[in-house]
Amino acid sequence: MTQSGELRITLLGATGSIGSSTLDVISRHPDRYQVHALTANTNVDVLFALCEKWSPRYAVMNDETSASDLAQRLKRKNIQTTVLSGESGLLQVVEDEAVDCVVAAIVGAAGLLPTLAAAKAGKRVLLANKETLVMTGKLFIDTARENNAVLMPVDSEHNAIFQCLPDCLTEYHSSVKMTNRQVKSGIERILLTASGGPFRDFSADQLHDVTPEQAVNHPNWDMGKKISVDSATLMNKGLELIEAYWLFDMDIANIDVVIHPQSVMHSMVTYSDGSVLAQLGNPDMRTPIAHALAWPERIESGVEPLNIFDVAKLEFEQPDLDRFPCLRLCYEAIKRGGSATIVLNAANEVAVAAFLDDKIGFTDIANLIEQTLNLAIITEDVSSVELILEADALARMITKKCIAEIH
Ligand code: NAD
Ligand code: MG
Repeated sequence: MTQSGELRITLLGATGSIGSSTLDVISRHPDRYQVHALTANTNVDVLFALCEKWSPRYAVMNDETSASDLAQRLKRKNIQTTVLSGESGLLQVVEDEAVDCVVAAIVGAAGLLPTLAAAKAGKRVLLANKETLVMTGKLFIDTARENNAVLMPVDSEHNAIFQCLPDCLTEYHSSVKMTNRQVKSGIERILLTASGGPFRDFSADQLHDVTPEQAVNHPNWDMGKKISVDSATLMNKGLELIEAYWLFDMDIANIDVVIHPQSVMHSMVTYSDGSVLAQLGNPDMRTPIAHALAWPERIESGVEPLNIFDVAKLEFEQPDLDRFPCLRLCYEAIKRGGSATIVLNAANEVAVAAFLDDKIGFTDIANLIEQTLNLAIITEDVSSVELILEADALARMITKKCIAEIH
């Protein structure tokens, strides 16, 4: 914390959709937050503009060429930001003692090491990067707990669930390992809502012909490309199922996925006395980000409260696991345990990238994940980062080989 009491923040993935929503919330509270470090993949133009605006102590680019390009441009403008690069740069700005809070908003497995490092360093971790939790599961939760990290879910559904839990489960933060307390608190089920994506009503034939342009256009949420495709295949909901399983220590049989096309009810918790608690709001990530930044306080986020009369109608339906097999594969991977969710996540990342690159069709994504799960050796021991990254790398090789065979 600074001398004047501002929380110092490292924002991983500052140039992305979650990154820009986070900066929008922070900009409304200069007395509470100070941007310590901003990181990006290769987009020098955008990170330069952000450094001009925020004057962070550090900026990190993924590769050295982008880093030296950024450093030169900052020097010309006399901006005093130190530029770092690569994995070591990311770890440095996460582990820095001056940092209080790390916003984990890199997309995909690329975010694993810095996000895990934030938990290990006992920071307040705002978790948007769901792939890290899907891959590391127990290791991540144990690391957060052992190091007293404050783990705040940013994913709108998980943030909603967190908000619907009784204080006794969240007061000591992490919402982790609470089985006994859960029983006492009367929690029975979690209902994870899903918009259903842009192709909710498409037939199997129509799904076959979906293009990347169609898939990245989500009806309710404005998000990065990868998560938009994940939302369209329902893989995003499957990854969130795995995320909820780890975050809330909930048996998978007690988590339901509910299609709710309006995307204003962000998830629900049902209790033994018949109560169902839900969190509602306009579909705008600034709400969960503001909640996760300020909890247990509340701050203004820039989002208007939901006008219930405008919404007028709320619909709920069961997901169709035949038309959207990615969700079924996620249920199966959790049940299988071991490295299955790592393999699933890796295959999905490779397949989505190939789809966005016009190399495969939309329905090939699920087929490739299923093939990879069948071909990969699922290992039981996933207790170290090395084992996790090994399983990830092998799965990626298998999926790439399967893609090559399509052509
Ligand atoms: P995005 O594609 O808009 O942004 C991704 C960010 O990660 C960018 O800043 C990019 O520069 C950085 N990045 C990408 N690859 C990198 C690499 N190899 N090394 C270092 N940095 C890299 O994605 P997003 O929509 O902001 O999503 C970010 C994460 O948040 C994802 O895990 C997603 O599932 C999760 N999430 C997003 C939303 C949303 O509304 N966008 C909602 C819930 C959860
Ligand atoms: Mg979500």
